[in-house]
Amino acid sequence: MEEPKKKINPLDVAMKQIDIVGQYLDVDIGLLEKLKQTKRDLIVHFPVKMDDGSMRVYTGYRVVHSDTRGPAKGGIRYHPDVDLDEVRALAMWMTWKAAVVNIPFGGAKGAVKCNPKEMSPREIENMTRRFTWEISPLIGPESDIPAPDVYTNPQVMAWIMDTYSILKGYAVPGVVTGKPLEMGGSLGRLEATGKGVFITAKEAARHLKLPMEGARVVIQGSGNVGGIAGQYFHRAGAKVIGISDSKGGQYNRKGLDIDKVLACKDRYQCLLSHEVGGEDITNEELLELECDILVPAALENQITGDNAPKLRCRMVVEGANGPTTPDADAVLFDRGIFVVPDILANAGGVTVSYFEWVQNLQNLLWNEEEISERLERIMARAFAETFEIAEEKRVHMRTAAYILGVGRVAKATQLRGIYP
Ligand code: NAD
Repeated sequence: MEEPKKKINPLDVAMKQIDIVGQYLDVDIGLLEKLKQTKRDLIVHFPVKMDDGSMRVYTGYRVVHSDTRGPAKGGIRYHPDVDLDEVRALAMWMTWKAAVVNIPFGGAKGAVKCNPKEMSPREIENMTRRFTWEISPLIGPESDIPAPDVYTNPQVMAWIMDTYSILKGYAVPGVVTGKPLEMGGSLGRLEATGKGVFITAKEAARHLKLPMEGARVVIQGSGNVGGIAGQYFHRAGAKVIGISDSKGGQYNRKGLDIDKVLACKDRYQCLLSHEVGGEDITNEELLELECDILVPAALENQITGDNAPKLRCRMVVEGANGPTTPDADAVLFDRGIFVVPDILANAGGVTVSYFEWVQNLQNLLWNEEEISERLERIMARAFAETFEIAEEKRVHMRTAAYILGVGRVAKATQLRGIYP
């Protein structure tokens, strides 16, 4: 009988990544140990009124990994499998990500352990508002700023902003980013992460001399990140030959019509082969499809030591946070598969979140061109800086991005010093 697979703890992965990068940084071992730890973990258990009149207790988390370079920043996830270690790892990755794109934010993450697919909109609203109240002493535009993540969206951000503003007695749009446009959201925020994935994929393709026109793309996840990245690839002339959601994937070697795929997902909450003109495949099969660009854009630990030898792509561009384990990284590197790591590839979201926050604090309204041009410039610069380190130190792109990101945070920590 096959041994049951051991669950990989994302925090172990995040800590191992610091050990790997530590060899390349000239920093004190004590400082590296500090960077491996979160600054503050808040756990709350709180009651929510359900539609049938009953009361349920939910567990929520808000973790700050670092505020050394600026206010802590990071999304809120609603998922039945989240736990404290996962949120800690996600908070840590936010710190490095903001540093890679050189934005003055630290890293945070939040989550509520729940299954939003089984809850009504009113129950999700009640839960969001009570969770906001529970974490309200710690969040704020100057301290810790949430944003959307898996199974949260602009509407959830609107409820957080409203609840926090009621507590303060005045409107505080800067307390969250990823808000609807009508209430202080930024143009370009909804598309930002998917667009950033596409921009970095384009830079990597240029380096590999791979034309985007006709490139075969496979995307795991068809939500905010995967779906929108798919649209950018499609518009650039690439063929999205496979895409999935939590229930499974669709494959068509001639290319799927991404707009049809997203319309189907929107209408039926799943991907139906007869609606999108594809064949049913599992998420495991999807990752192993022969393609040029593979974009994991769902959850952590999807590319592991087990399936990395079976991947048949030229590059992996990580839309999700933590989709590849360190043992898989080593296999991909040996096999010459180019990886654009999460802390670089999906940094478009935090970048435009920063633009949204700046606009909120200063009552500014930037237009789409200003946002798009700034995002392109920042993402292309971060890619070039990471690539230069990878070439110079002969390391893979993940280690290079960590040298850049962790190096910046370590330097800032040294400059601030340890109080008292
Ligand atoms: P989302 O809720 O919009 O979409 C998640 C997608 O993943 C859905 O299509 C869902 O069906 C799919 N999915 C869920 N479980 C799956 C499974 N077990 N196998 C395959 N697919 C599965 O979330 P999102 O905002 O697109 O986030 C996706 C990833 O990108 C996460 O890792 C998130 O942390 C990361 N990320 C998001 C942002 C952002 O701005 N939204 C920014 C940076 C990174």
